[in-house]
Amino acid sequence: MRPDDVVVPEDCTFCGACCFSTLPEYIRVFGVDHDRMDDRARALTHFIGNRCYMRLDEGHCSALKLDPQEGRFLCSIYEARPDCCRALDRGSGACRGELHEKRQRPLIALERLRQGKAD
Ligand code: SF4
Ligand code: SF4
Repeated sequence: MRPDDVVVPEDCTFCGACCFSTLPEYIRVFGVDHDRMDDRARALTHFIGNRCYMRLDEGHCSALKLDPQEGRFLCSIYEARPDCCRALDRGSGACRGELHEKRQRPLIALERLRQGKAD
């Protein structure tokens, strides 16, 4: 399947694909993003050299909360999320690329939670 052929979910909270990564430098956090997160930034971000990024946990951004009962993915800092998250529009080429590459990851993570294989 090509990225153009992917089915884009109508609601990002039932997808979460773009919040998944194993790359520690996946989500860049600039100064304005860090300030917006205020007290939450310390727990949710990490520095590599002098650059700041969102911390990852279990293959996804540590701010992402999975709800295995509802099958939903919620950003716990939605109103304060970094600019790079704000810039990713549902249905855009970037979104389709994320879906093409990672659509299965959130589904696998939910299934692991449902089976009690992760905390
Ligand atoms: S922007 Fe796209 S990849 Fe990200 S959660 Fe929404 S539908 Fe999924
Ligand atoms: S900050 Fe929120 S929107 Fe951005 S990657 Fe993390 S969970 Fe997803």
